[in-house]
Amino acid sequence: MERVTQRQLGGEDQRVEKTTRTTKLVSELEKMQIRWALEAADKGEPVAWCMVGVQPEIIRGFGIADVYPENYAAIASAKRQVVPYLERAESEGFPAFLCSYARYGLGYTYRMLELSGGVPPSPEEVPWGGMARPDIILGRAQCEPGYKWFQAMGKILDVPVFIHEEKCIRIAPGSNPVLPYDDPEFREALISAEIQDNKDMIAWLSEKLGRKIDWDRVIEAFYRHNEMRRLWNGVFELRKSMPSPMPSEDMVSALYPGYCLGGTQEAVDFYAKLYDEVKERLEKKLCVIPELSQEKYRLFWGGIGIWQYTGLYKYVQNFGAVFVTENQYYRDAFVETDTDPQKDPLRAIAERHFYDAKIGADRARRFGTGDIRAGLVLEMLDSYRCDGAFLHFLISCRPVVIGWTHTYNLIRDESGIPTMSLESDMCDPRSVSPADIRNKTEAFLEMVATYQQAREKAGGSAPGKA
Ligand code: SF4
Repeated sequence: MERVTQRQLGGEDQRVEKTTRTTKLVSELEKMQIRWALEAADKGEPVAWCMVGVQPEIIRGFGIADVYPENYAAIASAKRQVVPYLERAESEGFPAFLCSYARYGLGYTYRMLELSGGVPPSPEEVPWGGMARPDIILGRAQCEPGYKWFQAMGKILDVPVFIHEEKCIRIAPGSNPVLPYDDPEFREALISAEIQDNKDMIAWLSEKLGRKIDWDRVIEAFYRHNEMRRLWNGVFELRKSMPSPMPSEDMVSALYPGYCLGGTQEAVDFYAKLYDEVKERLEKKLCVIPELSQEKYRLFWGGIGIWQYTGLYKYVQNFGAVFVTENQYYRDAFVETDTDPQKDPLRAIAERHFYDAKIGADRARRFGTGDIRAGLVLEMLDSYRCDGAFLHFLISCRPVVIGWTHTYNLIRDESGIPTMSLESDMCDPRSVSPADIRNKTEAFLEMVATYQQAREKAGGSAPGKA
């Protein structure tokens, strides 16, 4: 297959140069949050290890320094520091098919136990100073590790654990069925259940931390979170343009403030800056591959990112292909809640989650999929004019992979574009070699090119060629 250049940006190299200036700031924000927690621990202020997505307004309302073991595992993987802790967890009896984020976090926890609760001191061993020892651990019932991984870490370190149930509103991070969101009784049952979950979490935190929640901070965080969501969605809207102003390797970094700094001004500022930069790139018609004025092939990335081999995102550019979007980190446009957060912040928070689920269900109905994720993927393939879809079939994350075969079949049958199922893992570099991934990818890109030629021959424009 013809190469655009001989840049070989992929290979074994993990240093993936970002296209946008703003995403280069992400690592500074990550370091800042890790430092906050270490400083808080030094001052005797509370530190929490949190599962991504645990109610950010409540975290901000209690003024807790929050650290996210999932994100930290991804950082360690990208820095090639992940394997010793994966092996440590496995040597303690945790199976190698357990979520690799969980295995890394457990390995880290055992190491901490060895150090009598201390943070591993060497930068050779852990990135950026390490995760501070937690005073509390907050899990989330989005998947089985959301319960059991966080409970296990609490048990090993003898730290209290709370699991936020999120009853029914978000069933799993992957395939979600369409539930009767239009039924007023069902709606009220979901919202009331989430309000109760949040009340339980607040009562538990008050007792463990010996302090009260600051409702002004909760409301302030709610507004900031919404503003961040608006900007984040705006970036996704801009990215529909051709040529792509911002590829997936940038978004898999840019997800961090949204996932881990929710409710902070830093997160709002980040997405505002990113939005402005992407808009500017669009106005200047700047292409991700500078040698080309247009992408030859526009690709879709399905599922969690591949932190153990981020070079793949750049590797495809050797063939004129760009990953232009991805579903896992997509954020829908924010819908105003019916309840005024000043009057009832917990109801407003629950309504926001309810509307997130309802928007997805409405879309799935439009696409006739019966499945929220499949509806989103089909809409994205169309609106981003993709020529091919990679679905990351994660060996160690069952919640995201549940339903992938259904989604894969729908794409194959409905979209008319070639699809590749890439079996690998988000974090564990032992799962598959970069050479195997590259071989499979090159074969797939041949197929994308063949489909495109066939469409052009038949007189139709390729999806990526409006
Ligand atoms: S959703 Fe998947 S990757 Fe995330 S914690 Fe659960 S099992 Fe691990």
